[in-house]
Amino acid sequence: MTKEVDIKCSFCGRDKQDTQVLVAGINGHICDECIQQALGIVKEEISDKTTSYENASISLKPQEIYEHLNEYVIGQEEAKKTISVAVYNHYKRITQKDDGDDIEIEKSNILFVGETGTGKTLIAKTIAKILNVPFCIADATVITEAGYVGEDVESILSRLLQTADYNEAAAEKGIVFIDEIDKIARKSDNPSITRDVSGEGVQQGLLKLMEGAVVNVPPQGGRKHPEQKLIPIDTKNILFICGGAFDGLDKIIGKRLQTQAIGYKTSKTDSIEKDNILQYVNPTDIKSFGLIPELIGRLPVLSYLKPLDKEALRRILTEPKNSLVKQYSKLFDLDNIKLTFEKGVLDFIVEKAIIFKLGARGLRSICEAIMLDAMFELPSDDKAKSFKVTMDYAKGKLKKSTITKLKVA
Ligand code: ADP
Repeated sequence: MTKEVDIKCSFCGRDKQDTQVLVAGINGHICDECIQQALGIVKEEISDKTTSYENASISLKPQEIYEHLNEYVIGQEEAKKTISVAVYNHYKRITQKDDGDDIEIEKSNILFVGETGTGKTLIAKTIAKILNVPFCIADATVITEAGYVGEDVESILSRLLQTADYNEAAAEKGIVFIDEIDKIARKSDNPSITRDVSGEGVQQGLLKLMEGAVVNVPPQGGRKHPEQKLIPIDTKNILFICGGAFDGLDKIIGKRLQTQAIGYKTSKTDSIEKDNILQYVNPTDIKSFGLIPELIGRLPVLSYLKPLDKEALRRILTEPKNSLVKQYSKLFDLDNIKLTFEKGVLDFIVEKAIIFKLGARGLRSICEAIMLDAMFELPSDDKAKSFKVTMDYAKGKLKKSTITKLKVA
């Protein structure tokens, strides 16, 4: 018979005295923490498999949507508020009953303007998660590369259909995030001079999706399966959220506001000026940038995201529900290793991220560079019970990694 002291959790190996509860089974034991974790996995698996989109929580009020967003997205108050209202109105419109007053609420597709890594995709993704509706991300530049044949544009909806587990009704209420919409801009505001046909072709294609027509979608996507039967998808109630960095838009806005465009050059004032200027963005600026008016017309909600400053980046490391620090701690915790950071290390990571100019995206690459070796070695080290990332360790690992090549002079 097993002695009391030898009883361990058969999943994580913790001794009985290190657990709160240890449940006995026929051939082993499981501790309270592993039960919690297993429950999480079960819930996730079940919700993945059944894609219970019927339970879409589209009855949330704008403030409730905003509060949920706050759990994942730091800062960007303006964008979070705008999208909370837009999404609320969108789903109210879907569920609107025809009361005979002829007032038809128009769709509130959204355009997000903001530098890379400021949270555009994150906001769109989080909204879909909160509402429990199918969600997919499409990259506008990929459509450009393949030419501007309509078929490719439709494959965006194939992806949505796939995430919806081919539940057409669910897909028809889903959210599509189209990234890098700025990259398919016409190169000049004047269509008669340098007409960038491919960019405009893609814009026309996207317009077709956003106009609210019924689109024939290849269920497997792409052109590789020409024999596949097309599925008609009504795009009327699909919410499109587009995002782009729109490099140089600040100058266009500046010009419109009749402020001097020169003077943005000095690096210190750069982000502050841009920050102040982007908030004045309006559809004419987007048109000057090179999106066709018809497409702009289909994106009536326009919002901006600020470049993330030091303080925001520092908060992003620890505060969101699935912040990087929480994720790493969890990973180590699963190996029974307590992870800590020496004071100053997180600030050091933030400083580097600012230098790399990749917004919050930089945080992840820097953390990976610092943590890789430890994540490689420690799981095999039975004696390791804790791991402290010291300043010297962080600096040393970062110096050795190739990430320093990212450095923008
Ligand atoms: P983009 O604006 O280029 O779409 P993303 O939303 O993809 O940027 O951001 C990249 C990553 O950076 C996200 O996965 C997220 O972890 C982090 N991130 C970016 N902005 C924020 C933010 N405002 N709050 C919390 N995390 C953020």
